[in-house]
Amino acid sequence: MEAVIVGAGTFGASLAWWFARDGGRVTLVDQFGPGDPRASSGGETRLYRCAHGPDSEYTAMARRARMLWRQLEDESGEELLVECGMAWFAHHDDGWEAASERTLAAQAIPVERLDIASASKLYPSFRGDDLAFVLLEPEGGVLRAERSMRTLAAQAVSHGARIVRGRATPDGPAVVLEDSTRLEGDLVVWACGPWLPKLFPDLVSLRVTQQELLFLDGGPAWRAPGVPAWCDYERSRYGTADIDEVGAKAGIDDEGPPLDPDADLPSTTRTEAEVRAYLRDRFPMLEHAPLIGARSCRYEITADTRLIAAPHPEHASVWIVGGGSGHGLKHGPPMAERLATALASETTLPADFALGERSGSQSLRTASSSRPAS
Ligand SMILES: Cc1cc2nc3c(=O)[nH]c(=O)nc-3n(C[C@H](O)[C@H](O)[C@H](O)COP(=O)(O)OP(=O)(O)OC[C@H]3O[C@@H](n4cnc5c(N)ncnc54)[C@H](O)[C@@H]3O)c2cc1C
Repeated sequence: MEAVIVGAGTFGASLAWWFARDGGRVTLVDQFGPGDPRASSGGETRLYRCAHGPDSEYTAMARRARMLWRQLEDESGEELLVECGMAWFAHHDDGWEAASERTLAAQAIPVERLDIASASKLYPSFRGDDLAFVLLEPEGGVLRAERSMRTLAAQAVSHGARIVRGRATPDGPAVVLEDSTRLEGDLVVWACGPWLPKLFPDLVSLRVTQQELLFLDGGPAWRAPGVPAWCDYERSRYGTADIDEVGAKAGIDDEGPPLDPDADLPSTTRTEAEVRAYLRDRFPMLEHAPLIGARSCRYEITADTRLIAAPHPEHASVWIVGGGSGHGLKHGPPMAERLATALASETTLPADFALGERSGSQSLRTASSSRPAS
Protein backbone atom coordinates (compact mmCIF):
# COMPACT_ATOMS: atom_id res chain seq x y z
CA MET A 1 0.00 0.00 0.00
CA GLU A 2 1.15 3.54 -0.80
CA ALA A 3 0.19 5.97 1.98
CA VAL A 4 0.67 9.73 2.09
CA ILE A 5 0.17 11.15 5.56
CA VAL A 6 0.13 14.89 6.18
CA GLY A 7 0.92 15.91 9.75
CA ALA A 8 3.56 14.44 12.06
CA GLY A 9 1.70 14.95 15.32
CA THR A 10 0.48 12.01 17.36
CA PHE A 11 -2.08 10.82 14.81
CA GLY A 12 -0.01 11.21 11.66
CA ALA A 13 3.28 9.98 13.12
CA SER A 14 1.52 6.97 14.69
CA LEU A 15 -0.08 6.14 11.34
CA ALA A 16 3.29 6.45 9.59
CA TRP A 17 4.87 4.10 12.13
CA TRP A 18 1.99 1.65 11.89
CA PHE A 19 1.77 1.44 8.09
CA ALA A 20 5.56 1.44 7.56
CA ARG A 21 5.94 -1.37 10.10
CA ASP A 22 3.27 -3.28 8.19
CA GLY A 23 5.29 -2.98 4.98
CA GLY A 24 3.48 0.00 3.43
CA ARG A 25 5.27 2.65 1.35
CA VAL A 26 4.77 5.72 3.51
CA THR A 27 5.43 9.40 2.91
CA LEU A 28 4.97 11.59 5.99
CA VAL A 29 4.66 15.30 5.20
CA ASP A 30 4.94 18.06 7.79
CA GLN A 31 5.41 21.79 7.52
CA PHE A 32 7.70 21.83 10.61
CA GLY A 33 8.87 18.27 11.31
CA PRO A 34 7.98 15.76 14.06
CA GLY A 35 8.01 16.96 17.68
CA ASP A 36 7.79 20.66 16.88
CA PRO A 37 6.58 22.87 19.77
CA ARG A 38 4.18 24.73 17.42
CA ALA A 39 2.13 21.55 16.91
CA SER A 40 -0.54 20.50 19.37
CA SER A 41 1.55 17.40 20.18
CA GLY A 42 4.45 19.68 21.14
CA GLY A 43 5.71 20.32 24.65
CA GLU A 44 7.45 18.13 27.18
CA THR A 45 4.69 15.93 28.58
CA ARG A 46 1.05 14.85 28.43
CA LEU A 47 -1.02 12.96 30.97
CA TYR A 48 -1.56 9.28 30.35
CA ARG A 49 -4.76 7.92 31.93
CA CYS A 50 -7.45 5.37 31.25
CA ALA A 51 -10.23 7.05 33.27
CA HIS A 52 -12.87 8.52 30.95
CA GLY A 53 -15.90 8.59 33.26
CA PRO A 54 -18.56 6.18 32.00
CA ASP A 55 -17.09 6.00 28.48
CA SER A 56 -15.95 2.41 28.06
CA GLU A 57 -14.72 2.82 24.46
CA TYR A 58 -12.16 5.54 25.26
CA THR A 59 -11.19 3.71 28.45
CA ALA A 60 -10.38 0.57 26.45
CA MET A 61 -8.56 2.57 23.77
CA ALA A 62 -6.39 4.26 26.41
CA ARG A 63 -5.54 0.90 27.93
CA ARG A 64 -4.59 -0.43 24.51
CA ALA A 65 -2.44 2.69 24.07
CA ARG A 66 -0.28 1.65 27.00
CA MET A 67 0.57 -1.63 25.28
CA LEU A 68 1.36 0.10 21.98
CA TRP A 69 3.52 2.85 23.53
CA ARG A 70 5.41 0.08 25.32
CA GLN A 71 5.89 -1.68 21.97
CA LEU A 72 7.33 1.53 20.55
CA GLU A 73 9.66 1.81 23.56
CA ASP A 74 10.84 -1.77 23.08
CA GLU A 75 11.43 -1.17 19.40
CA SER A 76 13.26 2.14 19.83
CA GLY A 77 14.97 1.85 23.22
CA GLU A 78 13.43 5.22 24.21
CA GLU A 79 11.69 5.79 27.56
CA LEU A 80 8.43 7.50 26.67
CA LEU A 81 5.84 6.56 29.28
CA VAL A 82 6.61 7.44 32.90
CA GLU A 83 4.35 5.27 35.03
CA CYS A 84 4.22 7.57 38.06
CA GLY A 85 0.48 7.04 38.63
CA MET A 86 -2.43 9.39 37.95
CA ALA A 87 -4.66 10.77 40.69
CA TRP A 88 -8.16 12.20 40.24
CA PHE A 89 -9.51 14.56 42.89
CA ALA A 90 -13.19 13.70 43.42
CA HIS A 91 -15.48 16.38 44.84
CA HIS A 92 -18.51 14.08 45.04
CA ASP A 93 -19.10 10.46 45.99
CA ASP A 94 -20.83 9.70 42.72
CA GLY A 95 -19.40 11.98 40.05
CA TRP A 96 -17.00 11.55 37.11
CA GLU A 97 -14.41 9.75 39.25
CA ALA A 98 -16.87 7.18 40.64
CA ALA A 99 -18.10 6.51 37.08
CA SER A 100 -14.46 6.13 35.98
CA GLU A 101 -13.81 3.73 38.81
CA ARG A 102 -16.70 1.50 37.71
CA THR A 103 -15.60 1.56 34.06
CA LEU A 104 -11.98 0.83 34.94
CA ALA A 105 -12.91 -2.00 37.28
CA ALA A 106 -15.21 -3.55 34.64
CA GLN A 107 -12.19 -3.69 32.30
CA ALA A 108 -9.85 -4.99 35.04
CA ILE A 109 -7.69 -1.85 34.79
CA PRO A 110 -5.90 -1.21 38.11
CA VAL A 111 -7.60 1.52 40.16
CA GLU A 112 -7.72 2.42 43.85
CA ARG A 113 -10.12 4.63 45.81
CA LEU A 114 -8.15 6.47 48.52
CA ASP A 115 -9.43 8.39 51.51
CA ILE A 116 -7.92 11.83 51.98
CA ALA A 117 -5.46 10.72 54.68
CA SER A 118 -4.04 8.04 52.35
CA ALA A 119 -4.03 10.39 49.37
CA SER A 120 -2.06 13.01 51.28
CA LYS A 121 0.85 10.56 51.46
CA LEU A 122 1.14 10.64 47.66
CA TYR A 123 2.37 14.27 47.55
CA PRO A 124 5.04 16.31 49.37
CA SER A 125 2.22 18.62 50.50
CA PHE A 126 -1.50 18.12 49.99
CA ARG A 127 -4.84 19.53 51.09
CA GLY A 128 -7.99 17.59 50.37
CA ASP A 129 -10.55 18.99 52.80
CA ASP A 130 -12.85 19.87 49.86
CA LEU A 131 -12.66 16.34 48.39
CA ALA A 132 -14.78 13.22 48.84
CA PHE A 133 -11.98 10.85 47.80
CA VAL A 134 -9.05 10.44 45.43
CA LEU A 135 -9.07 7.92 42.61
CA LEU A 136 -5.62 6.58 41.79
CA GLU A 137 -4.67 4.86 38.55
CA PRO A 138 -1.35 3.28 39.60
CA GLU A 139 -0.52 2.49 35.97
CA GLY A 140 -1.36 5.98 34.76
CA GLY A 141 1.31 8.62 34.36
CA VAL A 142 2.95 10.85 31.83
CA LEU A 143 4.01 10.55 28.20
CA ARG A 144 7.06 12.47 27.00
CA ALA A 145 5.28 14.26 24.15
CA GLU A 146 7.87 15.69 21.75
CA ARG A 147 10.19 12.76 22.34
CA SER A 148 7.32 10.40 21.49
CA MET A 149 6.64 12.22 18.21
CA ARG A 150 10.30 12.10 17.20
CA THR A 151 10.45 8.42 18.15
CA LEU A 152 7.33 7.50 16.15
CA ALA A 153 8.73 9.28 13.10
CA ALA A 154 12.21 7.78 13.54
CA GLN A 155 10.77 4.29 13.83
CA ALA A 156 8.61 4.90 10.76
CA VAL A 157 11.78 5.88 8.89
CA SER A 158 13.60 2.80 10.19
CA HIS A 159 10.81 0.74 8.57
CA GLY A 160 11.27 2.58 5.27
CA ALA A 161 9.05 5.66 5.53
CA ARG A 162 10.13 8.92 3.91
CA ILE A 163 9.69 12.25 5.66
CA VAL A 164 9.08 15.33 3.53
CA ARG A 165 9.19 18.82 4.97
CA GLY A 166 6.66 21.15 3.38
CA ARG A 167 3.26 22.73 3.59
CA ALA A 168 0.57 20.77 1.79
CA THR A 169 -2.80 21.61 0.26
CA PRO A 170 -5.53 19.14 -0.69
CA ASP A 171 -6.38 18.83 -4.38
CA GLY A 172 -9.11 16.24 -4.75
CA PRO A 173 -7.59 12.93 -3.66
CA ALA A 174 -4.03 14.30 -3.95
CA VAL A 175 -1.62 16.25 -1.76
CA VAL A 176 0.11 19.23 -3.36
CA LEU A 177 3.21 20.81 -1.84
CA GLU A 178 4.25 24.46 -2.16
CA ASP A 179 6.74 23.60 -4.91
CA SER A 180 3.86 21.98 -6.88
CA THR A 181 4.99 18.43 -6.11
CA ARG A 182 1.93 16.24 -6.29
CA LEU A 183 1.69 13.20 -3.99
CA GLU A 184 -0.90 10.49 -4.47
CA GLY A 185 -1.49 7.17 -2.79
CA ASP A 186 -3.92 4.32 -2.15
CA LEU A 187 -4.50 6.18 1.09
CA VAL A 188 -4.10 9.87 1.93
CA VAL A 189 -4.54 10.97 5.55
CA TRP A 190 -4.81 14.57 6.68
CA ALA A 191 -3.80 14.54 10.37
CA CYS A 192 -3.22 18.25 10.70
CA GLY A 193 -4.39 18.97 14.25
CA PRO A 194 -5.48 22.62 14.72
CA TRP A 195 -4.96 23.31 11.00
CA LEU A 196 -7.74 20.92 9.91
CA PRO A 197 -10.55 23.53 9.89
CA LYS A 198 -8.46 25.75 7.59
CA LEU A 199 -7.87 22.87 5.19
CA PHE A 200 -11.42 21.47 5.31
CA PRO A 201 -13.69 24.30 6.50
CA ASP A 202 -16.88 22.54 5.40
CA LEU A 203 -15.99 19.21 7.02
CA VAL A 204 -14.15 19.88 10.28
CA SER A 205 -15.47 21.88 13.18
CA LEU A 206 -12.86 22.58 15.87
CA ARG A 207 -12.19 25.48 18.22
CA VAL A 208 -8.51 26.42 18.31
CA THR A 209 -7.30 28.16 21.46
CA GLN A 210 -4.17 29.15 23.31
CA GLN A 211 -3.56 27.22 26.53
CA GLU A 212 -0.83 27.79 29.03
CA LEU A 213 1.33 25.56 31.20
CA LEU A 214 3.44 26.72 34.12
CA PHE A 215 6.58 24.99 35.42
CA LEU A 216 7.52 25.56 39.05
CA ASP A 217 10.60 24.75 41.08
CA GLY A 218 9.22 22.64 43.92
CA GLY A 219 12.64 21.31 44.92
CA PRO A 220 13.77 17.67 45.12
CA ALA A 221 10.55 16.46 46.79
CA TRP A 222 8.60 17.19 43.61
CA ARG A 223 11.19 15.44 41.46
CA ALA A 224 10.51 12.07 43.05
CA PRO A 225 9.52 9.58 40.32
CA GLY A 226 6.69 8.25 42.50
CA VAL A 227 4.71 11.51 42.70
CA PRO A 228 1.56 10.92 40.62
CA ALA A 229 0.27 13.18 37.88
CA TRP A 230 -3.05 14.70 38.88
CA CYS A 231 -6.31 16.09 37.58
CA ASP A 232 -9.15 17.92 39.26
CA TYR A 233 -11.84 17.20 36.65
CA GLU A 234 -14.49 19.40 38.20
CA ARG A 235 -12.24 22.44 38.72
CA SER A 236 -10.42 21.81 35.41
CA ARG A 237 -6.92 21.95 36.85
CA TYR A 238 -4.17 19.42 36.18
CA GLY A 239 -0.45 18.85 36.47
CA THR A 240 2.51 16.61 37.04
CA ALA A 241 5.51 16.31 39.29
CA ASP A 242 8.84 17.43 37.90
CA ILE A 243 9.69 15.08 35.03
CA ASP A 244 13.15 15.50 33.47
CA GLU A 245 13.94 18.52 35.67
CA VAL A 246 11.78 21.02 33.80
CA GLY A 247 9.73 21.82 36.93
CA ALA A 248 6.45 20.66 38.43
CA LYS A 249 3.79 21.35 35.79
CA ALA A 250 0.41 22.94 36.51
CA GLY A 251 -2.23 24.17 34.08
CA ILE A 252 -5.79 25.36 33.78
CA ASP A 253 -8.10 23.63 31.33
CA ASP A 254 -10.61 26.47 31.04
CA GLU A 255 -10.80 27.31 27.39
CA GLY A 256 -8.23 29.96 26.51
CA PRO A 257 -8.43 32.78 23.94
CA PRO A 258 -8.94 31.84 20.27
CA LEU A 259 -5.66 31.40 18.39
CA ASP A 260 -5.19 31.26 14.64
CA PRO A 261 -3.32 28.02 13.83
CA ASP A 262 -0.70 30.02 11.91
CA ALA A 263 -0.20 32.68 14.57
CA ASP A 264 2.97 32.65 16.66
CA LEU A 265 2.49 31.14 20.11
CA PRO A 266 2.24 34.13 22.46
CA SER A 267 4.55 34.20 25.47
CA THR A 268 2.35 35.06 28.44
CA THR A 269 1.74 34.10 32.04
CA ARG A 270 -1.93 35.14 32.01
CA THR A 271 -2.99 32.13 34.14
CA GLU A 272 -0.32 32.40 36.86
CA ALA A 273 -2.55 33.94 39.54
CA GLU A 274 -5.26 31.32 39.00
CA VAL A 275 -2.79 28.45 39.00
CA ARG A 276 -1.20 29.68 42.21
CA ALA A 277 -4.63 30.06 43.82
CA TYR A 278 -5.36 26.42 43.03
CA LEU A 279 -1.96 25.31 44.31
CA ARG A 280 -2.59 27.16 47.58
CA ASP A 281 -5.76 25.09 48.03
CA ARG A 282 -4.27 21.76 46.92
CA PHE A 283 -0.46 21.69 47.17
CA PRO A 284 0.42 24.53 49.57
CA MET A 285 4.17 23.96 49.20
CA LEU A 286 3.96 24.93 45.53
CA GLU A 287 1.95 28.13 45.95
CA HIS A 288 5.01 30.38 46.10
CA ALA A 289 7.45 28.08 44.26
CA PRO A 290 9.62 30.01 41.79
CA LEU A 291 8.34 29.99 38.24
CA ILE A 292 10.88 28.24 36.01
CA GLY A 293 8.97 28.71 32.79
CA ALA A 294 5.62 29.15 31.08
CA ARG A 295 4.68 27.43 27.85
CA SER A 296 2.00 28.51 25.45
CA CYS A 297 0.31 25.71 23.49
CA ARG A 298 -2.02 25.36 20.52
CA TYR A 299 -5.13 23.43 21.48
CA GLU A 300 -7.91 22.10 19.25
CA ILE A 301 -11.21 20.90 20.61
CA THR A 302 -14.37 19.37 19.14
CA ALA A 303 -17.70 20.37 20.67
CA ASP A 304 -18.11 16.93 22.26
CA THR A 305 -14.36 16.37 22.99
CA ARG A 306 -14.48 13.16 20.87
CA LEU A 307 -11.83 12.45 18.23
CA ILE A 308 -12.29 12.70 14.46
CA ALA A 309 -11.46 9.82 12.09
CA ALA A 310 -13.55 9.51 8.95
CA PRO A 311 -13.22 9.28 5.19
CA HIS A 312 -13.65 12.36 3.04
CA PRO A 313 -17.23 12.31 1.67
CA GLU A 314 -16.06 12.81 -1.95
CA HIS A 315 -12.77 10.89 -2.02
CA ALA A 316 -12.89 7.42 -0.48
CA SER A 317 -9.09 7.12 -0.32
CA VAL A 318 -8.78 10.31 1.74
CA TRP A 319 -9.20 10.28 5.54
CA ILE A 320 -9.28 13.09 8.06
CA VAL A 321 -8.01 12.32 11.57
CA GLY A 322 -7.62 14.56 14.60
CA GLY A 323 -9.75 16.43 17.12
CA GLY A 324 -7.43 15.58 20.03
CA SER A 325 -9.47 17.86 22.35
CA GLY A 326 -6.91 18.03 25.14
CA HIS A 327 -6.71 14.26 25.63
CA GLY A 328 -5.73 12.87 22.23
CA LEU A 329 -1.98 12.42 22.42
CA LYS A 330 -2.06 9.06 24.14
CA HIS A 331 -4.56 7.77 21.57
CA GLY A 332 -2.23 8.14 18.55
CA PRO A 333 -1.08 4.51 18.27
CA PRO A 334 -4.45 2.86 19.02
CA MET A 335 -6.17 5.15 16.53
CA ALA A 336 -3.59 4.10 13.93
CA GLU A 337 -4.34 0.48 14.72
CA ARG A 338 -8.09 1.08 14.46
CA LEU A 339 -7.81 2.91 11.17
CA ALA A 340 -5.60 0.18 9.72
CA THR A 341 -8.10 -2.46 10.83
CA ALA A 342 -11.03 -0.52 9.38
CA LEU A 343 -9.25 -0.13 6.04
CA ALA A 344 -8.26 -3.79 5.92
CA SER A 345 -11.84 -4.87 6.57
CA GLU A 346 -13.32 -2.10 4.37
CA THR A 347 -15.40 -0.74 7.23
CA THR A 348 -15.55 2.70 8.79
CA LEU A 349 -15.09 3.67 12.40
CA PRO A 350 -17.98 4.31 14.82
CA ALA A 351 -20.27 7.23 14.06
CA ASP A 352 -18.95 9.35 16.91
CA PHE A 353 -15.67 9.82 14.96
CA ALA A 354 -17.64 11.45 12.13
CA LEU A 355 -16.87 14.71 10.37
CA GLY A 356 -19.06 17.80 10.67
CA GLU A 357 -20.69 19.59 13.56
CA ARG A 358 -20.92 17.92 16.94
CA SER A 359 -23.13 18.70 19.87
CA GLY A 360 -21.86 18.80 23.43
CA SER A 361 -21.93 15.82 25.78
CA GLN A 362 -20.03 15.03 28.97
CA SER A 363 -16.46 16.14 28.38
CA LEU A 364 -13.73 13.51 28.15
CA ARG A 365 -11.14 16.12 29.12
CA THR A 366 -12.24 18.16 32.16
CA ALA A 367 -15.57 19.68 33.13
CA SER A 368 -14.88 23.05 31.51
CA SER A 369 -13.64 21.63 28.19
CA SER A 370 -17.15 21.30 26.88
CA ARG A 371 -18.05 24.90 27.71
CA PRO A 372 -17.25 27.37 24.92
CA ALA A 373 -15.16 30.39 25.95
CA SER A 374 -17.29 33.34 26.96
C1 LIG B 1 -2.02 22.18 26.61
C2 LIG B 1 -2.41 20.82 26.11
C3 LIG B 1 -2.60 19.80 27.03
C4 LIG B 1 -2.94 18.53 26.58
N1 LIG B 1 -3.04 17.53 27.48
C5 LIG B 1 -3.15 16.26 27.04
C6 LIG B 1 -3.02 15.18 27.94
O1 LIG B 1 -2.82 15.38 29.13
N2 LIG B 1 -3.12 13.92 27.45
C7 LIG B 1 -3.29 13.66 26.13
O2 LIG B 1 -3.32 12.49 25.74
N3 LIG B 1 -3.44 14.68 25.24
C8 LIG B 1 -3.36 15.96 25.67
N4 LIG B 1 -3.48 17.01 24.81
C9 LIG B 1 -3.99 16.77 23.44
C10 LIG B 1 -2.99 16.33 22.48
O3 LIG B 1 -1.67 16.75 22.79
C11 LIG B 1 -3.38 16.83 21.07
O4 LIG B 1 -4.76 16.83 20.88
C12 LIG B 1 -2.77 15.93 20.04
O5 LIG B 1 -1.40 15.78 20.33
C13 LIG B 1 -3.02 16.51 18.65
O6 LIG B 1 -2.32 15.73 17.71
P1 LIG B 1 -2.55 15.93 16.17
O7 LIG B 1 -1.68 14.94 15.51
O8 LIG B 1 -4.01 15.93 15.85
O9 LIG B 1 -2.10 17.44 15.88
P2 LIG B 1 -0.67 18.13 15.88
O10 LIG B 1 0.20 17.61 16.94
O11 LIG B 1 -0.89 19.60 15.84
O12 LIG B 1 -0.03 17.68 14.52
C14 LIG B 1 -0.49 18.19 13.29
C15 LIG B 1 0.73 18.36 12.40
O13 LIG B 1 0.25 18.70 11.11
C16 LIG B 1 1.16 19.61 10.54
N5 LIG B 1 0.45 20.36 9.52
C17 LIG B 1 -0.70 21.05 9.68
N6 LIG B 1 -1.11 21.55 8.51
C18 LIG B 1 -0.20 21.17 7.59
C19 LIG B 1 -0.08 21.37 6.20
N7 LIG B 1 -1.00 22.06 5.51
N8 LIG B 1 0.97 20.84 5.56
C20 LIG B 1 1.92 20.13 6.24
N9 LIG B 1 1.85 19.91 7.56
C21 LIG B 1 0.79 20.41 8.23
C22 LIG B 1 1.61 20.48 11.70
O14 LIG B 1 2.86 21.06 11.44
C23 LIG B 1 1.65 19.47 12.84
O15 LIG B 1 2.95 18.94 13.03
C24 LIG B 1 -3.14 18.29 25.21
C25 LIG B 1 -2.96 19.33 24.29
C26 LIG B 1 -2.57 20.56 24.73
C27 LIG B 1 -2.33 21.63 23.72
